[in-house]
Formats: sequence, structure tokens, C-alpha cells
Amino acid sequence: MPRARVPFAAGRLWLDFVNTDEAPRHAQGDMLASFDGYLAWLERSALIDAARRTALQRRALEQPASATATLHEARRVRSALRPLAEHGVHASERVTQAAMLEINRVLGRSTGVRRVGQDARDGSFHRTFLPSGDAFAALVIPVVESAADALVTGELARVRRCVAEPPCPRVFLDTSRSGRRRWCDMRSCGNRNKAARHRAASRVRRRTPPS
Ligand SMILES: [Zn+2]
Repeated sequence: MPRARVPFAAGRLWLDFVNTDEAPRHAQGDMLASFDGYLAWLERSALIDAARRTALQRRALEQPASATATLHEARRVRSALRPLAEHGVHASERVTQAAMLEINRVLGRSTGVRRVGQDARDGSFHRTFLPSGDAFAALVIPVVESAADALVTGELARVRRCVAEPPCPRVFLDTSRSGRRRWCDMRSCGNRNKAARHRAASRVRRRTPPS
């Protein structure tokens, strides 16, 4: 499986995966509503290429029950990871344990070969994992490994949920120097919230008689 290093919108693959949830503020439906939608997301995240997507679509037509089971599993992984992403280091013991259980369930049955590869463009090195087991079941492995990395490296302390109002479900890795980033995206949630706060402040000023 090629592991191209694409810039993930939320900063990490597993957080982008959590953000496949429905997000009305961003006019986004559930990207895991169908197996085809799941494959489209995997391709956009460079976890599979176009040829592999076509091959998987063909296999899904031959084995619809298996494709449905794979989709259900992806959703199950997502629902275990979302609370962990939303609460980060403040997640309850129950949430953390449930996420770990799900991560270990997927990792426990993953078989494959680990390799180190080199980027042809810039010569940088990266690890790759070539699954040897079931092609469908292997699709979610990179996502789960990304979540495992967050736990191991302590990066969870920098994982946040957008604080926009009305609520935005998106989660992200806060890489700001101050560690006080609040919105998933400055252009959409950030600006809209600043504008709303400005309007609210002007209303208060208008209501307050000059002293
Ligand atoms: Zn947001």
C-alpha cells in the first residue's frame, strides 16, 4: 500500500478519518455513508490509488456482504476514535479503553510486511506497511496506526475539537506555538465566529446608553 504523505487537513490521518462524520456547518454529509464513499475518501487521502480503488469496487460487486461488513467496521472504528479525539488527554478511562480496544482489535489481526521507502521527488524516507491479509480488512489499518501513534507519542494533548457556534464536529491537531488554536479552519469557522461575536458586541454597545 503506498503511503504518500499528503497534508491532512486536520493534521493527522486518524483525525481526518474522524472528520468524515456529517458536518452540517461545512455542508458535508457522512463520507462513510456507502462503501463507494469510503473508497473515495481512501483515495483522496492517498491510502489507495485510482487503480486499486477500481479493483476494490469490482470486488465489492462480487462480494457485497463483505463490502458492507468492511464499511460497518470503518464506522465502528470511527465511533470509538471520535470521543478520544474530542476529549484528548481529558478523555475518561472508559473512552480511552474503548478506543484502545478497537485499535488493538484491528492491529491484532493485521498481517503484512513493514518496509522503509524513499520518496522519488525529495529523497525523504518513510515507513510503509504492505498488508498480506484480506484486502478489505486492511484498509483501515493506517488509520488505526495513526491513532496509536497519537497515544504513544503523547500528541493527544494537542488534539482539539472546534469550538464554533453552532457546534462544529471537526477535530484537529493544534500545531500552533501557543497551543491555543480554537477553530478547525480559520476561513470558515474562525471568521464566521469572529463576525458573529462582533455583531453581538455591537448589539450590546447599541443597547448601552452613553454615560
Ligand atoms: Zn469548525
